[in-house]
Amino acid sequence: MEKRDFYEVLGVEKTASDDEIKRAYKKMAIKYHPDRNPGDKVAEEKFKEAAEAYDVLHDPDKRARYDRFGAEGLNGAGAGFSGQNMDMDDIFSMFGDIFGGHAGFSGFGGFSGNSQAGQRQYRGSDMRVRMRLSLKDIYTGISKKIKLKKYVTCPECNGSGCEGHSQMETCPQCHGSGYVNKVRQSLFGMMQTQSVCPTCQGEGSIIKNKCHHCHGEGVVMGEDVVEIKIPAGVSNDMIVNVPGKGNAARRNGVPGDIQVMIEEEEDTTFIRDENDIIYNLLLSVPQAVLGDTVTIPTMEGKAKISIEPGTQPGKVLRLRGKGLPGIKGYGNGTGDLVVKVSVYIPERLTSEEKDTVKSLTESDNFTPTESLRKTISEKFKTFFD
Ligand SMILES: [Zn+2]
Ligand SMILES: [Zn+2]
Repeated sequence: MEKRDFYEVLGVEKTASDDEIKRAYKKMAIKYHPDRNPGDKVAEEKFKEAAEAYDVLHDPDKRARYDRFGAEGLNGAGAGFSGQNMDMDDIFSMFGDIFGGHAGFSGFGGFSGNSQAGQRQYRGSDMRVRMRLSLKDIYTGISKKIKLKKYVTCPECNGSGCEGHSQMETCPQCHGSGYVNKVRQSLFGMMQTQSVCPTCQGEGSIIKNKCHHCHGEGVVMGEDVVEIKIPAGVSNDMIVNVPGKGNAARRNGVPGDIQVMIEEEEDTTFIRDENDIIYNLLLSVPQAVLGDTVTIPTMEGKAKISIEPGTQPGKVLRLRGKGLPGIKGYGNGTGDLVVKVSVYIPERLTSEEKDTVKSLTESDNFTPTESLRKTISEKFKTFFD
């Protein structure tokens, strides 16, 4: 395959600064990252192509040679980089510096962490589950046991992948280093290149006698009951990470996480507004006019509140601290129970009731004066703050 121009691959000018090259590569690497494009061969090729271009262009020496002789000038040169023959993990360990290590891509199944030869460890993949919670669950926080189909440690070999009492053996090809060196004659002299050992795929050891149950993987598909603790105060679409409870990793590596996506059920009594809980209290006309003591539902049961005589519809009463608890790192503290008053106006009246209500029009008290209209509408402004 004819190689594309490295500058073209990264979309930069021939005069691009080191910084521009670094930025351009980072952008491409993120865009074509295999974690974002699972199973997409084209993206994978582009990812490798960009890595190869960056490998050359970020090294002043290689770049100078490339500018002068083109790709030919690089044959066999350098620290054994040929993007096409390397696995993704090698590319990461090579460019770990610009990604800040593996941190940004922790969801990537496969090798992770310390990728020094012989010390590599597999990481299980993460799982994502949805959990529907009632407002009550959210108020109290909840612990739920869920049954999951996932990779579990092989019960026959306890994850070693080895049959019976046999053990892994040092790889005969790389003698445990995980890498093989090749020395080649090139235009620029003898060049040593290093690549992942094809016999052990970089593990440094091999299994001669594979476990019959898991075929040497150390994991099998199984079922597990996992206890998931959800803290109080979570909200819709929030993701709660449960570390180490996801898929078991091959050969006793680091298990993945479970990411629990919260789905909030609508409540029939309350409306949630961040950490406040809103309750619409409907009063009768006499209650609003004469005052009363009423019982309202709360998150914990019931509470009695007193309604003052002359309570306007739209009035807001706050029961401080009776809302949802705040969740660490999400700003809001404990919310309030917010009681919004409305007044029930009957639609059909008997003729007697009509007479009673009509008689009220004769009383000045029941007709707001201009100044009252003003002060009450002013008040409403603040109710909705
Ligand atoms: Zn090997
Ligand atoms: Zn096994």
